[in-house]
Amino acid sequence: MNWITNYVRPRINSIFSRREIPENLWTKCDECGTMLFHRELSDNLNVCTNCSHHMGITPRARFAALFDGGIFSEVDVPVPTPDPLHFRDQKKYPDRLRAAQKLTGEKEAMLVATGEMGRTPVVAAAQDFSFMAGSMGMYVGNAIIAAAETAVKLKRPLILFSAAGGARMQEGILSLMQMPRTTVAVQMLKEAGLPYIVVLTHPTTGGVTASYAMLGDVQIAEPGALICFAGPRVIEQTIREKLPEGFQRAEYLLDHGMLDRVTPRTQMRDELITITRMLMGLPPAIKGDLPAPAAAEPVKAEAKPKDAPKK
Ligand SMILES: [Zn+2]
Repeated sequence: MNWITNYVRPRINSIFSRREIPENLWTKCDECGTMLFHRELSDNLNVCTNCSHHMGITPRARFAALFDGGIFSEVDVPVPTPDPLHFRDQKKYPDRLRAAQKLTGEKEAMLVATGEMGRTPVVAAAQDFSFMAGSMGMYVGNAIIAAAETAVKLKRPLILFSAAGGARMQEGILSLMQMPRTTVAVQMLKEAGLPYIVVLTHPTTGGVTASYAMLGDVQIAEPGALICFAGPRVIEQTIREKLPEGFQRAEYLLDHGMLDRVTPRTQMRDELITITRMLMGLPPAIKGDLPAPAAAEPVKAEAKPKDAPKK
């Protein structure tokens, strides 16, 4: 104990901790380096206002912007057996799961919800890249099956937003089993004659690309999204050749017939409304007629005690 530890160090710490506060309010764009105010960035759905770079977005924020008035109800997903392989690398799998849950505030890497989008009833599922890289384990498989079953039961289209580093290696073969399981779930929708629309977001890779993410009736991607099975670095090392510019990016895939559209996030809702209404045989949406996202308050049926019969 001396003057340095008692006086100087606390002073230095207080100066540095004070500096951290404004940093939380600003996010630096990975692409152009512009400092973006957090409010401005979230209002623009995490798309850089300077260069239109699409950053990650949580399923909850996406659904708030997708559904009318930001209102949706979550679909319950059966929770699978935790850690069936007792997997351990540098950390135990349950520890990694708990850390991801704490970080994101979510149970797992996929959120399923029902709601209305431009007065069009839909079921939507969104993968959370911030939860263990959105990896597809048994829970994600269960979530897709729950989403497909709900869509079939309610006769609604299913919209899926994919984002994943691939299969969840901590669940070994059981994670790979989600590829055929989710493929069967998609088939259920096709047999029921219901549209399945996939929105591929950055990045969608590995076993996810090799199953449900590429089976949509309509395949849309966000600009600049990396969509691949094996990544460009692995391919480059294997074939020992320089890959072309923009290889495996959304625009490249569109040019090569792998996608139907590349749509900016800020226009995605309108486009999804148009496509789902068209495929469900509903009249087209008229501009200005449909409620805006996360703005309108829910219309509640008012109780009228006067009209109620008295007994
Ligand atoms: Zn930018």
